[in-house]
Parts: sequence; C-alpha cells; structure tokens
Amino acid sequence: MTPGYTGRFAPSPTGPLHAGSLLAALASWLDARAHSGRWLVRIEDLDTPRCVSGADAFILQQLAACGLQPDEPPLWQSARSSHYQLALTALQVAGMAYPCTCSRKDIAQALAAAGSSRPRHGELIYPGTCRQGVAQENSAARRPGPAWRFRTDLASRSSNPAWHWSDRRLGPQQQQLEAEVGDFVLLRADGLWAYQLAVVVDDAAQSVTHVVRGEDLADNTVRQIALQAALGMLTPIYLHTPLVRGPDGEKLSKQNGAQALDLRDPLAALQEAATALGLGEVKGNTADALATWVAQWRSVWGA
Ligand code: GLU
Ligand code: ZN
Repeated sequence: MTPGYTGRFAPSPTGPLHAGSLLAALASWLDARAHSGRWLVRIEDLDTPRCVSGADAFILQQLAACGLQPDEPPLWQSARSSHYQLALTALQVAGMAYPCTCSRKDIAQALAAAGSSRPRHGELIYPGTCRQGVAQENSAARRPGPAWRFRTDLASRSSNPAWHWSDRRLGPQQQQLEAEVGDFVLLRADGLWAYQLAVVVDDAAQSVTHVVRGEDLADNTVRQIALQAALGMLTPIYLHTPLVRGPDGEKLSKQNGAQALDLRDPLAALQEAATALGLGEVKGNTADALATWVAQWRSVWGA
C-alpha cells in the first residue's frame, strides 16, 4: 500500500491499442493495483492532425475488454487548453518562456554559422536565437506563430548543466538539457500545445505520483522534470518499461505492422504483454489472470 499513489495511462488516439501500447497500459495498471493506488486514463489528443476520429472510444473499449477500468472518467487533453495557457503564462511571467519565429531553415543556418549542426533524433537542437528577442525581419514577415520556447539555460539549477534522475528500471540517468535538447517548444507556431507542457500540467492536475510508460519516452523525462521545477510542481517516480519490438527490431508501431489487439481474445493479448513484462503464464479468465499478475508484480518490478 502506497498512500496517495496515482498512476495513469496516457494513450494518443492515433489508432487502436496494439501489443506495444497494451503493454504500457497493463504495466501502469498493475503497478497502481499492486500499490493499492488509483489508475487514471488520459486521452492525449493534442496533435490533432495525427488523431484518428473514434480511436479514443475504441481504445477505452479495448481497455474495458481487457478488464482495465480507470478509477475516474478519462480526461481529454483537447478540453484543457486553458490549463496549458495558465502554465505558459506563469513561465512567461517568470522569464522562462520566449516567443520564437525561426523557421527550420533559420535554425539550420544559425547552427551552421555556429559550426554545430548535429541533429538529435532527426531534430535540430535550437541554439536559442530568439532568447534576446524576435528578429525584426521575422516579425515583419508575419510568419505564423510565434512558437513559445522554454529557456533551458535558466532552468539548470547549478553550475552543473546535467540533470540527474533515476528510473525504477533503467537506474540513474542524466542529460544536459541545454546542450543535448535545447530550448524546446511549449506552444507550436500552428497553435498546438506541445506534449511536454501538456503532460506536465496534466500529471500535476491529476496528482500523478507514479508514471509507468514505454522506454521510448524516457528521453523526454528531463524536459518534464525541468518544467515541473519551473512550475513548482512535484516530480513523479518514473518507470520506463521494455518495448515490444516489431519484426524490424524497431519499437512496434502501426508503421511496422502492429495489429490492433483482438477484442475476441483479450486474455491472449494480455498474456503476451505480461510475458514481455516477466510475469507468469496464467490459465483461466481475464480477472483471474490480472489478480495473479498483481500478486507477482512487486517481486518482479519492486515498489
Ligand atoms: N501519449 C504518449 C504516447 O502515447 C504517452 C505520454 C506519456 O505516457 O507520458 O506515446
Ligand atoms: Zn527563434
């Protein structure tokens, strides 16, 4: 029993659940149940061009078929703009956020001029061009936006620019936020809220104490911890689970052939996820299987 434990599963409704997303759902649910905690579901439908209509309802149906019921009605991020705006305003007032009108080309040119253009996961590391104000020619050109960026140089708390954190599975982690990530976007030039800001605001609003999610998201954690610190929010405890790999060895996704999980046989899908999580083979019905895995969870994954 962990008093006040709140966990969550935060799917993006870009398609139905598949083996990879079910693993994150099951792991977060089991961790919550093993701690006698609450488990919430949040639909992360901010990136509207990537959302598929009806996918949210279908995901909830899939979770229900698997016996994974949230303890409160789900939250939809698309209904929460005013909360993200309040957080952005707080960062603006604190001088931690600034407008940026740079195009990709501007960023590439600024990096080339500074003699560094090493991309990170295919993304250019923003060199902070607009920290001192937006260039005149850009504001005059009436580009869309501006985007709002977070000042990673001011976020670092000491002369040591590395942020340290610890993951329950991966152990001690660190990242130099300014050098490795750069001033990241909070509000995009097209008006969409960025995942980093929304996830931090909502984890705090839902009093999330424990985040259990796929390892592909581990690299975002320092951005989220830095935002939590800047906004005076508590940092949850993180556990990043192993990923289900596709035939190409990459994280399983619709692009490399992930199948929507079969609602006619939820136990088979759950068993596959449980096996990937190091839990045992279970016969019987879904409820029995879940109860067995809850009992096994702590000895495999700790407190
Ligand atoms: N919506 C994100 C995804 O589906 C998950 C975000 C999170 O768990 O922090 O990849
Ligand atoms: Zn800029």
